[in-house]
Amino acid sequence: MNKFGYHGQVLHVDLTNRAFKAESMGAEWYRAYAGGALMGGYFLLRDTKKGVDAFSQENPLVFASGVIAGYDAPALAQFSVITRSPALGEMAMAQCEGEFGRFLKASGYDAVVFRGKAEKPTGLLIEDGVPRFVEAGWVWGNSALESANLFARAYGLRREAIVSVGQAGENRVYFAGIVSGAGNQASRMGVGAVMGSKNLKSFMLRGGSRPKAYDPEKLIGISAAFSGAALERALYASPSTSQASDSRSIMERILDQYRSECACPSCPFGCVHHIGSKEAPLAATSVNRWRAKSLARDPNPDIWLQANALCNSYGLDPADTRQALRFAFECAEARLVEADVEGFTMGDYASVLPLITLIAERRGIGGVFADGALGAAEYIGGEAVSIAKRIINRGEPQAAAVREDTAFALDALSLCPYASYSRDLGPEYVREILFAITGWETTVDDFNRWRMRRERLRALFALREN
Ligand code: SF4
Repeated sequence: MNKFGYHGQVLHVDLTNRAFKAESMGAEWYRAYAGGALMGGYFLLRDTKKGVDAFSQENPLVFASGVIAGYDAPALAQFSVITRSPALGEMAMAQCEGEFGRFLKASGYDAVVFRGKAEKPTGLLIEDGVPRFVEAGWVWGNSALESANLFARAYGLRREAIVSVGQAGENRVYFAGIVSGAGNQASRMGVGAVMGSKNLKSFMLRGGSRPKAYDPEKLIGISAAFSGAALERALYASPSTSQASDSRSIMERILDQYRSECACPSCPFGCVHHIGSKEAPLAATSVNRWRAKSLARDPNPDIWLQANALCNSYGLDPADTRQALRFAFECAEARLVEADVEGFTMGDYASVLPLITLIAERRGIGGVFADGALGAAEYIGGEAVSIAKRIINRGEPQAAAVREDTAFALDALSLCPYASYSRDLGPEYVREILFAITGWETTVDDFNRWRMRRERLRALFALREN
């Protein structure tokens, strides 16, 4: 079998019994489940029974790359994490940009499925395709970023090749994410809380090689052409000219004010930056142009940056954390919780940072908000429920809004959602990239099938559970 774009193997990791098993998947399976979210959704449905609890041993935690993610081309610096979400009980499908996707692609496996629960804090290291458990008790209690630094030093790894949970994941905060050593985060739907519940502190990779591409020359050509001519338009493409220039000037102002490094290899969009103040070393925070807008309008951007860096350290989803903070402050305003509590004042800007720490550590009042706005509202009761619903419905700006004409299934194929604003990243680009990597001829029907399959996996799971 020609395996262009995939290894043909999935690794199952039994944390309870400290055992590994590789499962071979056929060519048709890869054609049907071509993206990381599809692969993970397949295992979540296939290998769990109705009623599986998010924190039970039976709930799998899947890291997957899909057939095109992880190659050197625009919008492919991605990997996916799939599990049952603790917050809503839904199928969580989180994606993460940065370098880790490249390492995962070279790991020798197209997906790694964790099950069970380690008896004590544990890490998993895959070196040149060979997995082994490593002791993680000495790292437990550290932030996600410090954990990556410690493991990187101990095992001679690159920190970008490590993903970890911080204290928020260890403490099962409902909106905990999984953070790479560089500060990129698979943030959505509490995937970090599930990882922490398995006593899995870090997942580390070294060596290996990516599966061969069907036409490597074509892949390089497409990538170069895209990165050249399309770059200027793609960077700030936006529905209107005035919005485009607004985005551009805000981003330029931010990047001028702070030091920054672009987060993703081989991607010309440059929409996510790791940034810090000019005087201090780079903070473990990232800014995309949606967040840059709020940063530029903020009277105190340094607090915002510190809050974002804290979220990345503790492994908290920044968007859900903002939501929880807003909920906490509105509850204080409505006198549903004490305004002056545990040494700080709710609603006071300076209280944001200590409150984030309390949430991550589930200490004091933070333990209430660690269950998310809805969970906390149920605990507080009364008007809190309607406040939570209003805040959640107003929502936070998430990643990129998916384009309405997105017939080509960005998410299903693990293409980066941030790239969805680019007019250049259309079905033709995806079709050509797919061909160069896998040798597959595809049509719009194939894209629609992948998109629909992703939606149906989630719908089937929700139907089964409810
Ligand atoms: S589109 Fe942005 S976030 Fe996505 S891979 Fe490219 S640079 Fe990274």
